[in-house]
Amino acid sequence: MNDHRAAPVDPADSSRPAAVHGSCCTAGMPEPDAASGSSRATGAASPGEEGEEVRRFWQRLGLPGLVDVHTHFMPERVLRKVWDYFDAQGPLTAGLEWPIAYRQEEAERVALLGEFGVRAFTAMLYPHKPGMARWLNGWAADFARRTPGCLHTATLYPEPGVETYVREAVEAGARVFKAHVQVGAYDPADELLQQAWGLLAEAGVPVVIHCGSGPAPGKHTGPGPIARVLARHPRLRLIVAHLGMPEYEEFLGLAERYGEVRLDTTMAFTDFTEKLMPFPPRALPRLAELGDRILLGSDFPNIPYPYVHQLAALERLDLGPEWLRSVCHDNATRLFGL
Ligand SMILES: [Zn+2]
Repeated sequence: MNDHRAAPVDPADSSRPAAVHGSCCTAGMPEPDAASGSSRATGAASPGEEGEEVRRFWQRLGLPGLVDVHTHFMPERVLRKVWDYFDAQGPLTAGLEWPIAYRQEEAERVALLGEFGVRAFTAMLYPHKPGMARWLNGWAADFARRTPGCLHTATLYPEPGVETYVREAVEAGARVFKAHVQVGAYDPADELLQQAWGLLAEAGVPVVIHCGSGPAPGKHTGPGPIARVLARHPRLRLIVAHLGMPEYEEFLGLAERYGEVRLDTTMAFTDFTEKLMPFPPRALPRLAELGDRILLGSDFPNIPYPYVHQLAALERLDLGPEWLRSVCHDNATRLFGL
């Protein structure tokens, strides 16, 4: 069904954590700590200054720029609804203030990524109900066509016909998919998805999947359902969003077990997340060991701190410049053939 009137999320529908999505970490988040280097919730540094700060980060590493596998672009009306929800401080944000740092028009947000030196990025979008994915995929294909640097992104949902539109998207050049187990409230091991997973595994197209139980668990979140998917599709290129928070160690375990499983850093290690779902220090050696399968993700633009804070949060892990180069650029260029 292509009726776009069905598409916008309904912020009043509290049964769907989906409504807030865009940002993947919503509930129970503390405010950014002004003393910790993440003080610019909105606009304290000029865009020019921030761009320079970000560029200095990758220049220090000797990189030609960044690749960010987890950025959100979606139909404007959908995005506005998401922002409205944050503004209303609804139950899914636990009533907390969530000042979105990058509330510019779409063209300005794209330009800002360019200024940051993000050479390639995605347009993460996903349905929270049936009949929406095909329409979102149409929008995303057009967005990728008109947006230099954007990796053509698509999405899916367990519904009749899913394998058809997934195949169409792959044939149309989709280079990455997004799946959202928490928002979609579906079992990723659902029989309806098996053909689609098989197709994506065979095509080698990566799928960024929000499947961890952060910020709030869903019926099908956690490592269990994903382990069942991987048991049937061991070559599926899943990129576990948010490093699987808060089940960091279980998802690292899946990456250790399956050579095509990767994780993105989105919101992990930031002051914001560490207060709520801290990464266990004992798992740092495993993170270092998996350095060739960790990918930079940010959740731009729906983040309540400046973009550069995600980079600083990675740097302060102290895993070294080689690890940072791999995570912030090289792993993604290899994966996507950039
Ligand atoms: Zn996200």
